[in-house]
Amino acid sequence: MQTLRLAPDSIEKAAEIIRLGGLVAFPTETVYGLGADGFSPEACASVFAAKGRPADNPLILHLCDISQINQVAFDIPNTFYLLKDFFPGALTVILKKSDKVPMEVSAGLPTVAVRFPKNEIARELIRLSGTPIAAPSANKSGRPSPTRAEHVLADLDGRIDAVIHGGDCEYGLESTILDLSENTPSILRQGVITEPRISEKIGAVLLTQNAKDAPKAPGMKYAHYSPRAKVTLVSSANISKMTEKINALALSRENSAIMATDETFSAYTHGIVISLGSRADLDEIARNLFATLREFDKRGVSQVFAETLPTDGIGAAIMNRLIKSAGYSIIYV
Ligand code: AMP
Ligand code: MG
Repeated sequence: MQTLRLAPDSIEKAAEIIRLGGLVAFPTETVYGLGADGFSPEACASVFAAKGRPADNPLILHLCDISQINQVAFDIPNTFYLLKDFFPGALTVILKKSDKVPMEVSAGLPTVAVRFPKNEIARELIRLSGTPIAAPSANKSGRPSPTRAEHVLADLDGRIDAVIHGGDCEYGLESTILDLSENTPSILRQGVITEPRISEKIGAVLLTQNAKDAPKAPGMKYAHYSPRAKVTLVSSANISKMTEKINALALSRENSAIMATDETFSAYTHGIVISLGSRADLDEIARNLFATLREFDKRGVSQVFAETLPTDGIGAAIMNRLIKSAGYSIIYV
């Protein structure tokens, strides 16, 4: 299969591919998604095949208008409407699934994940396709999520029908997933929309995303966000102790590299060093994280030593991704 490269003004062509049951990767404000007709079991099944995605890991349905919600879900709680300021935006909600949504989307669960992306290319694609678009991140299963069209092609060229070149993603981290299908709302995956911003609208919410053993979002139990290089995190309350340890580790390992921040960059003396951005600008770090993990692969690095980062605001979601990309391998000093 040849993968078409589409410009942002070719959305009608992309919509036609979706309507015919094909697969189109498209930009959203979080990461690039791999879209298929969300009402077509065959098209959704081919998303799993293209990504090598485990069959029990459900897809998120992307809609362009709140009024479409009744087509895909029922018994919608009032909390959904209280969160309307985040629609469109980087918040995914889990609701009870209507019969119209195929099992291929929900991976057999009685619930469905729904998001209203804000990115204009994504919204136009959904509108012109005339159907909800089922889309996981447009990477090979297990790899870092794509934040540029070139990342999509690095993983899926020849395996999907088309990719829309829509530039760099605004946030670079996946949406927050909030389960509204049970009595108490709970965050299954942290993301751009933080827990305090959600609580401000609907009151207290549970935080279950850190459960390693029995995660409620099926996707959270799989290895994730992993470059080919092995990633090891180094954690310390003291930044200079952390940088000293990372320097020593990098010196002791051949073909290693360091994932730094602007504040620590000059403390490192060995190997390839890439800064994620400033510790004072976590939005910048979020935007650069997945692209940087992929950059180490491009440079053929086999081991990356990475700093732990502040966990305030969006930092909690960043650290959640980093810990997973390291396969829970953390050295405390
Ligand atoms: P991705 O689009 O690659 O970020 O993957 C979508 C995420 O949403 C995965 O972690 C899924 O497990 C999660 N997800 C999708 N549908 C549901 C659902 N009905 N219940 C819980 N988690 C879901
Ligand atoms: Mg993903």
